[in-house]
Amino acid sequence: MTPAVSAAEDRRPVRLAGATRAELACALANLGLADRERRMRVSQLWHWIYHRGARDFSAMRNIARPLLDRLAERHDLERPEIVAEQISADGTRKWLLRLPPVHARDKGAEIECVYIPESDRGTLCVSSQVGCTLNCSFCHTGTMALVRNLTTAEILGQVLVARDRLGDFPGGVAPTDGLVPSGEGVRAVSNIVFMGMGEPLYNFEAVRDAIAVMTDGDGLSLSRRRITVSTSGVVPEMSRLGAECRTMLAVSLHATNNPLRDRLVPLNRKYPIEQLLQACRDYPGASNARRITFEYVMLKGVNDTPAEAKALVRLLRGLPAKINLIPFNPWPGSNYECSDWETIERFSEIVFNAGYASPVRTPRGRDILAACGQLKSESEKLRARARMMLEESLVFGQD
Ligand code: SAH
Ligand code: SF4
Repeated sequence: MTPAVSAAEDRRPVRLAGATRAELACALANLGLADRERRMRVSQLWHWIYHRGARDFSAMRNIARPLLDRLAERHDLERPEIVAEQISADGTRKWLLRLPPVHARDKGAEIECVYIPESDRGTLCVSSQVGCTLNCSFCHTGTMALVRNLTTAEILGQVLVARDRLGDFPGGVAPTDGLVPSGEGVRAVSNIVFMGMGEPLYNFEAVRDAIAVMTDGDGLSLSRRRITVSTSGVVPEMSRLGAECRTMLAVSLHATNNPLRDRLVPLNRKYPIEQLLQACRDYPGASNARRITFEYVMLKGVNDTPAEAKALVRLLRGLPAKINLIPFNPWPGSNYECSDWETIERFSEIVFNAGYASPVRTPRGRDILAACGQLKSESEKLRARARMMLEESLVFGQD
């Protein structure tokens, strides 16, 4: 049963940081603004929120004071609360964020979001759900008890936090460590990957709407080609993603035959490899210039033989594909080990010789815990794990 909304909760300001244009219009309509003025004010608010990164209504100089006061009475521009910020020696950053409660008894869920700087780009890895229902056997996120979809605003909140912290809004101050790309016309957050917690295609509408805000030219203005959505293979939603979002696609393949993939990615029992690859062939917009990334986690003694590397290239023949080999990131209680480095190299060589770029996600940020599949947002566990796995964790660099 959903707990009743308390009177106090009812009075909580409605957050506009992360709102869509339609939500902004609705907020203004509730303040009694007529259609024509509303449209103009939506554009102004949009510019302030997403282009300028305003955190306070009073900064919005081109909007009349009485309207700003009324907005501030009912709304705020807060971001998700930063519970912890960890910064690796190589500039990789991880934020543990607390979301505002959605009902009276909710204490507020926590999610993680990771930033990976490289010389020519900065990639933000965002979560689409708290936890994940899909239980891939090698993934820590799949073991979280609490699972819910994030709202569009909660997805966008991660981008706003990152841009705030990286000085990526006009007038912002970039970190002085020299590791975050910065300078005239350079953006600290230039790429987004939906590779944090959750299965983005199980939260399609919120992800789609967040992508629309991210790519809006008057606001965050990110290129669709620099946004990648990773799926474990939710076949029926893949064509929608291509048609409605036109982003890059990454597919978590991890095995070349159904019995093994059934074990690693249980969703395979519903949508087996043949159906998944057909959906990739049909993916709108895929071409040699816009290749689909196939992710393949390297699990010692499970999927890492030369024969499997050959099977992988056979399987992907004819598809505009890139192959991304991910060293397995262990977590306490996991039943797998990462393949030896020589095994990964041998695998990678076979893939490379078959004509595929086969970057191995480079180990990065060993001093913080921010790797694929390790994300599990319970601060206590996080601290314990950070102590235990200081030397084991791997963070990757993403195309
Ligand atoms: N749910 C989506 C996106 C989030 S997971 C998906 O599965 O694609 C992002 C990537 O991390 C996926 O390729 C996933 O298979 C991989 N991953 C999960 N756990 C991992 C682990 N422990 N080590 C390495 N990669 C992992
Ligand atoms: Fe969910 Fe992706 Fe983890 Fe599988 S790998 S449990 S789909 S987050």
